[in-house]
Amino acid sequence: MANSWRRERWDSLRLLTPNWQSRLPGLRYEGPDPDGYMTAGEVTAFIERFAEVSHAPVRTGVNVTSVRRADEGYDVTTSRGEIRCRAVVIASGACNKPWVPPFNDAAPASVEQLTPFDYRDPAQLPDGGVLVVGASATGVQLAAELRRSGRPVTLSVGEHVRLPRAYRGRDVLWWMDASGVWDQRYDEVEDLTRARRLPSPQLAGAPDRTTLDLNALASMGVEMVGRWAAVRDGRALFSGGLRNVFSLADLKMERLLDTFDEWAKADGCDAEVGPPERFAQTRVPDSTRLQLDLRSGEIRAIVWATGFRPDYGWLDVPVIDAKGQLNHEGGVVDSPGLYALGLPVLRRRRSTFICGTEDDAREVIEHLAWFLGAGGSAIIGRGRGPFSPPPR
Ligand SMILES: Cc1cc2nc3c(=O)[nH]c(=O)nc-3n(C[C@H](O)[C@H](O)[C@H](O)COP(=O)(O)OP(=O)(O)OC[C@H]3O[C@@H](n4cnc5c(N)ncnc54)[C@H](O)[C@@H]3O)c2cc1C
Repeated sequence: MANSWRRERWDSLRLLTPNWQSRLPGLRYEGPDPDGYMTAGEVTAFIERFAEVSHAPVRTGVNVTSVRRADEGYDVTTSRGEIRCRAVVIASGACNKPWVPPFNDAAPASVEQLTPFDYRDPAQLPDGGVLVVGASATGVQLAAELRRSGRPVTLSVGEHVRLPRAYRGRDVLWWMDASGVWDQRYDEVEDLTRARRLPSPQLAGAPDRTTLDLNALASMGVEMVGRWAAVRDGRALFSGGLRNVFSLADLKMERLLDTFDEWAKADGCDAEVGPPERFAQTRVPDSTRLQLDLRSGEIRAIVWATGFRPDYGWLDVPVIDAKGQLNHEGGVVDSPGLYALGLPVLRRRRSTFICGTEDDAREVIEHLAWFLGAGGSAIIGRGRGPFSPPPR
């Protein structure tokens, strides 16, 4: 239970969503610090508590090794035997494997390479320079922690989502929640594929609520380079054009803050929050290096903070696309009786976060109940593909 929060997170990680936002059906955070951010251990305890209050018959330590279509549903093979069932809800997570660009093999063996699943704390890394690749939530948090440990840190920055930790005196995720930005439904999003692939925001759940953007990292002495594009003769080659990447992230942040301001006016809560703020543009370094010789000894370790992917290696049903993502329509998978929960922008923007599960689960389970009741047998009997519209 809570396997990913128990085993796949680094020691200092805290949720970037505030405690009051950690809610599951029938369970709310009720501790003394609603505006704080849970440690990984606290998330584990929260999920254990959920298992208690929900009275779900949880079986822990069971690995599903295969799910196959059968006449009347699915045959599920587990490390503790077979289960025959009419419906399956896939809730195996969106971040089962760290993703690393294929050219990692070309880096010299003298440079240690870690993913966020291997990384626990700075003491694990050799002394000397570290190249952190990726500047989303994981990358900025690890770059800051490694820099604080006294190491020279270079951060390779591609497309990213910049956000201030607090805006007009409130947590920026309060604004996402209150203004309805997070309620936008998957079928209203203009480019759903892109929205589902959007990198995590540059946010950290630090108890002092400081903003951890690229300006903060630059002030700490982190060197920025562009997106890592290739390795040639032991050299890492980076894209130029940091200025454009920075401007785009600044522009998108400003548009979002405009949306918040408009909502605050329309909602009448303008007077209850602080005055509108605008933040300094991301500072472009005077010069940026376009390559780094990985054999020179300057870089002793590379931390790949380049994102995560789901792992459906156990799913023997043809519902995975060429990019390894599950084909589904708001959690209704393209195979009768197969459902999904816990994926980015599954039914709304907030689906990406723990607090998104409650609404999604209600709607997906409504469809599942309909399937098991009225429609299920007929649909399976007719061997149809994507099946009839769910109750909305
Ligand atoms: C580094 C990181 C930081 C995050 N920070 C936040 C945050 O601040 N706030 C927030 O709301 N969300 C955050 N998230 C997202 C958060 O992880 C998800 O919202 C939440 O964990 C989703 O829960 P889940 O149960 O759907 O998936 P997961 O937590 O990924 O759980 C899936 C479970 O399925 C198990 N599983 C997978 N395959 C099998 C199999 N074949 N057989 C049996 N079991 C299997 C896994 O072991 C795991 O226990 C973060 C994610 C990551 C990776």
